[in-house]
Amino acid sequence: PTPYTRASARPAGWQWRIPLQHRTGNGYVYSSAHISDDEAAATLLGHLDGVPMGEPRLLRFTTGVRRQAWNRNVVALGLAGGFLEPLESTSIYMIQSGIARLLNLLPRRDFSPLLIERYNAQSRFEYEHIRDFLILHYHATERDDTPFWNQCRTMSIPPQLADNIRLFRDSGRFFRDGEEMFATPSWVQVMLGQRIAPQSYHPLVDQMPDAELAGFMASVSHVVASCVEVMPAHQAFIDRCCTAPAMVA
Ligand SMILES: Cc1cc2nc3c(=O)[nH]c(=O)nc-3n(C[C@H](O)[C@H](O)[C@H](O)COP(=O)(O)OP(=O)(O)OC[C@H]3O[C@@H](n4cnc5c(N)ncnc54)[C@H](O)[C@@H]3O)c2cc1C
Repeated sequence: PTPYTRASARPAGWQWRIPLQHRTGNGYVYSSAHISDDEAAATLLGHLDGVPMGEPRLLRFTTGVRRQAWNRNVVALGLAGGFLEPLESTSIYMIQSGIARLLNLLPRRDFSPLLIERYNAQSRFEYEHIRDFLILHYHATERDDTPFWNQCRTMSIPPQLADNIRLFRDSGRFFRDGEEMFATPSWVQVMLGQRIAPQSYHPLVDQMPDAELAGFMASVSHVVASCVEVMPAHQAFIDRCCTAPAMVA
């Protein structure tokens, strides 16, 4: 079985393909301003590996976040607080981080406004940085074959994100902002994957002789290869450790 989830661009959004043991989950996240529900269902059904097990189910969502995640004695967690979109699967993480934040800032009976303000500021910080990371996936597209992708490519984006893209394109640098969720490897991987190629690089890189660099890369490659050597194949791992109950004969 395929040991990873695949996200593929489609004319008005993207499709996920998540292989499970007993079925493969598929969904099409699309902009209803750009295609009809029927077209979306047809696109989804046209890109399945096997026979559909049921009719597509339609879920609508409004993206956004509450102005105040914590208001008086009510704290909105999970979908009650906001939703961005499923591309980077951040929703459950944000439920957990909201709980952690609430524990850190748990009030006494006086509900100090300072705690509430800090909670709301940290929530907003988290949402906005994840929002920027998601926008990067769409905005950095090279696709120009549909109105949806043209809109994504040419739309205005938050200034902080525009600065990060400019800096990376200039000289391959990226700086994670404090405790934002996605770390440098995630940002760099999406930028390079979307062909935002740095035009230059850090001058200290030239201090490392090519032979030393080649040796370092060879040692990384060796570590990876020796780990792979002793690891079971995906199916063997499932058989040994986590066969789904329904799959047991
Ligand atoms: C197909 C799919 C795939 C997903 N994949 C991922 C993923 O890979 N990673 C990830 O992080 N997230 C994923 N999500 C999102 C994630 O599942 C949700 O964001 C998360 O479950 C939301 O949890 P919640 O408790 O906030 O809301 P819910 O799970 O919606 O819980 C709200 C509960 O409140 C109840 N309720 C509603 N109104 C009332 C009322 N008036 N009175 C009493 N009860 C009420 C509802 O019945 C429900 O039980 C996925 C979602 C879908 C649909």
